[in-house]
Amino acid sequence: MRTLRAAESVRRLCWTWRAHGDPIGFVPTMGALHSGHRALLRRARKETRRVAASIFVNPLQFGPGEDYDRYPRPFASDVRILKEEGVELLYLPRAERLYPEEFQTRVSVTGIGKVLEGAARPGHFDGVATVVAKLLATVVPDRLYLGQKDAQQATLLRRMVADLDLGVRVVVCPTVREPDGLAVSSRNRYLTPPERDWAPALYRTLSEAADRIRSGETVSPEKAAAWMRRRLARGPGRLEYAAAVDPRDFGPPKRGRPVVLAVAYRLPSARLIDNVVVKTGGRDR
Ligand code: AMP
Repeated sequence: MRTLRAAESVRRLCWTWRAHGDPIGFVPTMGALHSGHRALLRRARKETRRVAASIFVNPLQFGPGEDYDRYPRPFASDVRILKEEGVELLYLPRAERLYPEEFQTRVSVTGIGKVLEGAARPGHFDGVATVVAKLLATVVPDRLYLGQKDAQQATLLRRMVADLDLGVRVVVCPTVREPDGLAVSSRNRYLTPPERDWAPALYRTLSEAADRIRSGETVSPEKAAAWMRRRLARGPGRLEYAAAVDPRDFGPPKRGRPVVLAVAYRLPSARLIDNVVVKTGGRDR
């Protein structure tokens, strides 16, 4: 595996791959890699000849008081995982090179970017969209691999790719979960043992709400979301949102369309997000 820090070197290597006709799959991450990231890397390995990954804890997407400084950076184990998964290129940009002092441009997605996560974390999605646009401009992959765990992020980046004619195919991979249902996340390591014990309640609540919508369609998505809010109001932390939205634009659910049930919950040690997709009148996606 080649580890490259300079955008120019990444651009050159990827260019030679493309010149050979080798399709490139790209998996952007913030490191602290786990089984969720592995699933994306494996899918990329299966579908593309060359796999590139990036590790970059992007300061632009963290708000003041968020966990930028303490975000885990277990570099040696990340490198081991990337090698195990057959990654050929690790792009490891430096913040001061990506964002020099004179940097002035942001990619901003309105609509999808301003609700739920966008409302709870002002500026977050502009940071995500900006860094992913920069990474795509350097790697120029054929396929971009993202996780359903961050459903709104995936929808927003799909929108950005379409709006800016970036010409990369966006592949969204299912959420990888612990045996008790908790969505795997780099931030789970922050949880205290009692918080970790409580955390699967999020997925249980989402699953039950999904069942309510599915069971004969007697419960509207809005009612299911209200039920989740009542249920999660009793937990050990603070519910930031529990909502039902259309997966295409994160606007209000529409009749006959799939629904995303999404939650964000702040425990004292970590903020957790999760979601499920309900195909109304059918199976989950
Ligand atoms: P992160 O390193 O947290 O920025 O995540 C990098 C990519 O991995 C994003 O596309 C995430 O959606 C995806 N990802 C994170 N956790 C999971 C998970 N449990 N299952 C599937 N994908 C995930």
